[in-house]
Amino acid sequence: MTRSVTILGSTGSVGQATIDLIASAGRDRFEIVALTANSNAQALAAQALELRPRFVALAREDGYEALSHALAGSGIEIGVGAGAVCEAASMEADWTMAAIVGAAGLPPTLDAVRRGRTVAFANKEALVCAGDLFMAEAARAGTCLLPVDSEHNAIFQAMAGSRREHVRRIVLTASGGPFRTASREAMRAATPAGALAHPTWSMGAKISIDSATMMNKGLEIIEACHLFDLPHERVDVLVHPESIVHGLVEYADGGLIAQLGCPDMRTPIAHALAWPERLDTDVERLDLARLGRLHFEAPDPQRFPALDLARQAIAAGGGAPAVLNAANEIAVSAFLDCKIGFLDIADRVSEALDWWVHGPFSDERIDSFEDVLRIDREARRATRERIAVRAAG
Ligand code: NAD
Ligand code: MG
Repeated sequence: MTRSVTILGSTGSVGQATIDLIASAGRDRFEIVALTANSNAQALAAQALELRPRFVALAREDGYEALSHALAGSGIEIGVGAGAVCEAASMEADWTMAAIVGAAGLPPTLDAVRRGRTVAFANKEALVCAGDLFMAEAARAGTCLLPVDSEHNAIFQAMAGSRREHVRRIVLTASGGPFRTASREAMRAATPAGALAHPTWSMGAKISIDSATMMNKGLEIIEACHLFDLPHERVDVLVHPESIVHGLVEYADGGLIAQLGCPDMRTPIAHALAWPERLDTDVERLDLARLGRLHFEAPDPQRFPALDLARQAIAAGGGAPAVLNAANEIAVSAFLDCKIGFLDIADRVSEALDWWVHGPFSDERIDSFEDVLRIDREARRATRERIAVRAAG
């Protein structure tokens, strides 16, 4: 049976991996409804000419000319602007990959979730900002949410067939990133190139920096709380440099079930793409005898304060996780632009959380996605200002 598919963020690392899987599974199994990207008109057009979707959307309006030129005569409909990305997400499709990076993915991912059917969820920032609202919308619309993040996908698989009350805790593994063994002095001097050089995974720039600070794992703790309806105290983090064991579920009887595989996002994406079936892939097969041994260690909260910041945010609740995420997005982009140092990222996030949790806003209720977007805007503005003031001082 042909499955109709939309890919939000098709030009990114997860989006492209999804397309590669679809291409090798055979185009007769999938029909592409819509593809969306932020600004890369050329890459989006090349994907569209290959996959022949009905609609393509580019968030940046200034890409219209390049996109329409590249797709002239193809019969593929074009839209530009944030509204067009949401339009793509609202189109009828059996399966949607939500792989936009950052809170920018919130409105279109919400449209996909509200439309129903199946949403493969990679855009963790959207769940961090508005997890309760997303889970409620998915339940209301009868949408099946499939976790794509490798750890959450692993836990989803390790929980299959089990009853929730038998789960004692879940464990997210973390590679530890490029600075797993680095001193704080070395981290202070880290350059964007050094922080982007991830030892095991090949990913987009933002998540690579998040892996270096371990904020990625912090965001994943919050993501897991929502996806699996667990308090953060029952979501543990274990550093595992080889990135072979992706996640574990510990049961009441003391047994643990883990999911393993080579670090390649095509495996969790294939799982979500075919679920409840399985897809043949040509990913590297795991050879445990050749590997010989795997290593595990506790994360170091001193060198990686982002983990505790994320726990503080989910414990505070309300708008705090959205503030954590917004401040982190701004700080990561300032670091990539060489405007702040590596250790400043967690410091700016910590300041933003203090501003939120101890300031006059802490009691604000988060009842709607509009509330979340407002908090996101405010926290971005405040973080940008703090970065500018420090740069000037
Ligand atoms: P990426 O930077 O490679 O790609 C991001 C995609 O989002 C691109 O297609 C880009 O055009 C689009 N985009 C960016 N800003 C946008 C905007 N304002 N409006 C509309 N579209 C926009 O990112 P990625 O590494 O593929 O990650 C995507 C998401 O998946 C992130 O939330 C990330 O945390 C999550 N994730 C990624 C990986 C990975 O291996 N890359 C693993 C687990 C989870
Ligand atoms: Mg992950």
